[in-house]
Amino acid sequence: MGLNQRHILCFLYFIPLLIFYCPSHVYGFTFNRNYYELKGDIVWEVPTNEKVAAITFDDGPHPVYTPEILDILKKYHAKATFFLIGNRIEKYPYLVKREVKEGHELGNHTYTHVSLRQISYLKFLDEANRTEHLIEAYQRPQLKLFRPPGGGLNSDIIDIAKIENFEIILWSWDQDPRDWATPGVDRIANHILTHIRNGSIILLHDSGGNRSQTVKALDKILPKLQHEGYHFITVTELLRMNPRYAELFNFGLKNIVSPQ
Ligand SMILES: [Zn+2]
Repeated sequence: MGLNQRHILCFLYFIPLLIFYCPSHVYGFTFNRNYYELKGDIVWEVPTNEKVAAITFDDGPHPVYTPEILDILKKYHAKATFFLIGNRIEKYPYLVKREVKEGHELGNHTYTHVSLRQISYLKFLDEANRTEHLIEAYQRPQLKLFRPPGGGLNSDIIDIAKIENFEIILWSWDQDPRDWATPGVDRIANHILTHIRNGSIILLHDSGGNRSQTVKALDKILPKLQHEGYHFITVTELLRMNPRYAELFNFGLKNIVSPQ
């Protein structure tokens, strides 16, 4: 084998490794996390010296699991952020009302839980604005927190979201305990307990399947973490704790930093 052939083989060998390890590949981004995080376009977590974290619940509301989760949050005086699906807001308005009444925060998770990677920007705007309009009826001032289903994004959607003043909120990369795959109560709880850091954003689900494991895991982690000194706050409360975000964020977020 000649020197050139060996070079080519080496190169071919590294291509799959490069694709696999490139962080931008994970969510279909054109650029990497650092690029979007520094611009304040996307939030994964909010580094802080305080012992606080934000628990988020996607895909709800759900008539069985959402009330159970709200009961547990109330028991431990914890606040959370619910990323709601628009058509479920219409179906269960009393649950949305209860979420707000008990001090939790609402975010936007599209109207039909559509994957954003393949859709047109017009469809994205329809999904996002329709849901935001529904949320507005329950929550003021308008926060425009947006979480894409499955974390799926592309650079066009990110740009349009920014123009429309949506703030894209994902989750800490080490705080997806995969509760949606029902791996068992202990696995969900232990994952959160072993990976939690100050400013973590934890991903859980209160709908989209059987969430009884999520409910039980929540009941396990909250007393333990509170005993360790953690406080659970909403996403915007967490954002406000880091001055860097207050400076970087778009017009929508500035409204939150100084609510009228
Ligand atoms: Zn979802």
